[in-house]
Amino acid sequence: MKFAIVVVLAVIAITIYIIGMRWCRKVEETAFNKGVCPECGGELKCVDTDSLGSRYWVCENRYSKEKPCGYDCWVSYKVDKDKIMEIKKQNNNIES
Ligand SMILES: [Zn+2]
Repeated sequence: MKFAIVVVLAVIAITIYIIGMRWCRKVEETAFNKGVCPECGGELKCVDTDSLGSRYWVCENRYSKEKPCGYDCWVSYKVDKDKIMEIKKQNNNIES
């Protein structure tokens, strides 16, 4: 009987974990907005990465004199994969 309780608790814990992960991913997906700033429509630029591999994106209009935009976000899931690939490709073109 005790074993059954442990199994049920484990299943509940795993379910919460998976839902939590999906939710976090969704939040990041919304924040990254496919690389377009949701506040001014500018392009997001990757300016930093942390030790765990998260990417820090800031709006390209951050230092704009006409309409400065302070939008930024950290991304740890691969919601920015396409954008990262694009940047890598561009860098390769510059090098070769
Ligand atoms: Zn912006």
